[in-house]
Amino acid sequence: MNEIIGKSISEIRRLIATRQMSAREVTLAHLDHARKNDEQTNALLCITEDLALAQAEAIDKQLSNGTAPESLPPLAGVPICLKDNICVPGYPTTCGSRILEHFTSPYQATVATRLFDAGAILIGKGNLDEFAMGSSNENSAFKTARNPWNLKKVPGGSSGGPAVAVAAGYAAAGLGSDTGGSIRLPASFCGLVGMKPTYGLVSRYGLVAFASSLDQIGPFAANVEDAALVLAIIQGKDRRDSTSIDDPFGKLNSRNYPRLDLSFVQSLNSEEKASGKAGSLRGIKIGIMRELFGEGAEGEVRSAIEASIQTLTALGAEVADVSVDHLDVALPVYYIIATAEASANLARYDGVRYGARNQDATDILSMYTSTRQAGFGSEVKRRIMLGTYALSSGYYDAYYKKAQQVRRLLKESFDKAFEKFDVLLSPTSPTVAFNIGEKTDDPLTMYLSDIATIPVNLAGLPGISLPCGFGREGLPIGLQLIGAQLSDTQLIRVAHAFERANQASARRCSFLPASVPG
Ligand code: GLN
Repeated sequence: MNEIIGKSISEIRRLIATRQMSAREVTLAHLDHARKNDEQTNALLCITEDLALAQAEAIDKQLSNGTAPESLPPLAGVPICLKDNICVPGYPTTCGSRILEHFTSPYQATVATRLFDAGAILIGKGNLDEFAMGSSNENSAFKTARNPWNLKKVPGGSSGGPAVAVAAGYAAAGLGSDTGGSIRLPASFCGLVGMKPTYGLVSRYGLVAFASSLDQIGPFAANVEDAALVLAIIQGKDRRDSTSIDDPFGKLNSRNYPRLDLSFVQSLNSEEKASGKAGSLRGIKIGIMRELFGEGAEGEVRSAIEASIQTLTALGAEVADVSVDHLDVALPVYYIIATAEASANLARYDGVRYGARNQDATDILSMYTSTRQAGFGSEVKRRIMLGTYALSSGYYDAYYKKAQQVRRLLKESFDKAFEKFDVLLSPTSPTVAFNIGEKTDDPLTMYLSDIATIPVNLAGLPGISLPCGFGREGLPIGLQLIGAQLSDTQLIRVAHAFERANQASARRCSFLPASVPG
């Protein structure tokens, strides 16, 4: 295996800037590693080799034209993977669905443009549950991604593909989308750092919509610093997404959180000596959301979280239990709101405007219905039916309106908790990665995987999942930290200090070289 596989972003950038490796060599090594191994892991729906090589050549040219290494863009030569609901022209954007199997977007997502402008190299588009609806990747219409820690296990969903791509070393970082946990759950199952930023921090332009009031793009990486760097590049106002926040760390920043920019990321580095040392979290108040790891959680998850609480206490954080009202109804509220929005968003796949069309239909109505019948999988159909029902006249007030009211109450109980605490803590998921096929017959059990992540989307808050330990079968366990709106930088700081003290992210799955210095 090439020694570059599994290296951190800063290490890849350093090797390229000091000309120990060219961007082309880095790219070829990752393409080769992906090609050799992805038959086992099914992370990638397409490998974007031509684009990758062209992007690498552009970086190498900058260097040979005399660009000083320190003037190279921040992600120069860094291989990435984008979830396949993020549009990149020239390649299909399938959303894991038959209905978009041959769809190619004419325009590019803002996040892709920002990463490419920063020098990133796209290795491939990552597998996902169809239209991002799922928790295990098993709803992909094409293939099920497998967990690189144990190929019999799911990688988590819906952003399983980019998570596996990073965990198995096909890419150094990835982007997923998180509507109810789709970044944090796969991060937790695959032993990665994954973050859902504050709603509105990252542009959704060019992200195929599932539930627009909940969807948010965010990073996967092997460590907190790399995730923060990717987020610093993609975040910020975009005039093409009216819900993206204008000047997020400026006038709205009443609590003076640091800006999420490159110097903030560097400051993590320079604070490195302090972070993870006793006392480095002094003054930080952490609320423990015990409701989220009671009876329903596996014992090994519970004990890893208890140990994490000890670690945070040893770092100087003040911890106390907190009860957030209405958590118990977050799941039903989500499954009204998300399905209602999905039923409206997915109406556009009608065989006329996008993607596949049934050519045999004889009239327009049967063309619509047969196209949609053949093009959508059963989970997507279930959601469209649920959502259409919740929005239909006579039921709207009882379901959709009520769900919106409860969503508001939940948001207010989080606000109340953040009057006392800086950060809230829970497991990311009540279980470690489960067996492929274990929950497919029972949608309700599958939905319960997101019990700790969904409330965060409903309230629009930032949440990060990071490795905190390992269970019996050597499967990673994720810790979830939740912050107040726009406290993303504070959340990253706390996560970084925890990571230094805990070191669970240092362990590697067998797809990576055993030990990766740097
Ligand atoms: N598992 C949840 C669902 O199926 C969340 C998915 C997501 O965040 N995209 O809706």
